[in-house]
Amino acid sequence: MKAGNSVLTSYGTTIFEVMSRLAAEHGAVNLGQGFPEGLEPPALLAAAARAVAEGPHQYPSMMGIPALRRAVADHARRFYGLEIDPMREVMVTSGATEALADCLFGLIEPGDEVVLIEPLYDSYLPIVRRAGGVPKLVRLEPPNWELPRDALAAAFGPRTKLLVMNTPMNPTGKVFGVDELDFIADLLVRHDAYAVCDEVYEHLIYDGKRHVPLIARPRMRERALRIGSAGKTFSLTSWKIGYVTAAPELLLPVAKAHQYITFTTPTSLQQAVAEGLGSGDGYYRGLADGLAARRDRLAAGLRGIGFDVLPCAGSYFLIADIRSVGFNGDDAEFCRRLTVEAGVAAVPVSAFYKDEGVRHFARFCFAKKDEAIDEAIRRMAKHFKPGRA
Ligand code: PMP
Ligand code: GLN
Repeated sequence: MKAGNSVLTSYGTTIFEVMSRLAAEHGAVNLGQGFPEGLEPPALLAAAARAVAEGPHQYPSMMGIPALRRAVADHARRFYGLEIDPMREVMVTSGATEALADCLFGLIEPGDEVVLIEPLYDSYLPIVRRAGGVPKLVRLEPPNWELPRDALAAAFGPRTKLLVMNTPMNPTGKVFGVDELDFIADLLVRHDAYAVCDEVYEHLIYDGKRHVPLIARPRMRERALRIGSAGKTFSLTSWKIGYVTAAPELLLPVAKAHQYITFTTPTSLQQAVAEGLGSGDGYYRGLADGLAARRDRLAAGLRGIGFDVLPCAGSYFLIADIRSVGFNGDDAEFCRRLTVEAGVAAVPVSAFYKDEGVRHFARFCFAKKDEAIDEAIRRMAKHFKPGRA
């Protein structure tokens, strides 16, 4: 039999699926895969139910229903002061995952170089490679995950087509500073390159910090493509509603990818998300405050067990040093054993690296109900400190 595509078949099953399956098999509390619990806004559920009952049920415009495109543009003005033309500069996709693929397939020409920042989200590299891009990887180093400016500048060259970046960042919890964004902007201008900006965690940002999209920085309006996700903003990860915002000439090739991959996204869910984006400030503040409290609850519990926990300014994730509880093996083995033996699932941070990366961190998702967090801590305390639990 002839083989499937060599790039895609070279990858295993995604770590999120692997850990969730293992968690289910062993009845573990799942702090692995990044999805929230108990935060679904009732108004959006009602809006979606209404939209399903009332229709329409046929293909909407491939760019998304006008109400959602307008809502995305209004949201960009309200939070970031951006003036976006909803009909020419917004496209609705089936999740940020599709939006990322559309951007990469739509922009990359085989042989183009693509700058990526490790640790990185798992879909970036396979899609860049499948699109024919040549990855140029730059690493952030723990514990501060600062942008290595010299290495980043060295990764850019005459063949650089684009950079993929993610802020707030999974799995590090880093929020890029304005000075870092402006440094990136300079490189993009100097090398005539674009930035695909994965901003799915834009509203999951804590301690009074504010999200700054690269597209809102000087000279970036024509170079940055901004990706958001209702999965994260409304705690509805199964809905798979994403949106891309970019200047019309940039969005055009991206829309070509979308039209041949999914073409459209369910109308009823688009209608509900359009309503959701117009939620009052209380909704957005409540989301961030509630998640910050969950972060603090999990961090305190992990520290109580003896874990060194890195700071987290945004996203759903805390990173803990597995050496601090006396584990000297690698992170994948740690997470497997934690799931099977302690009954708590986490994700190894090495899964976010192309090659041999950092191997002593586990990522814990804190977007879970208090009861789940407390139960996970109780189980881990029993596992790591059996005499004291
Ligand atoms: N980018 C990052 C950094 C993510 O963590 C995720 C998953 N939550 C996605 C993209 C995918 O988002 P979606 O579920 O909207 O496809
Ligand atoms: N983004 C989520 C995470 O990092 C998971 C999404 C997925 O399972 N593909 O855990």
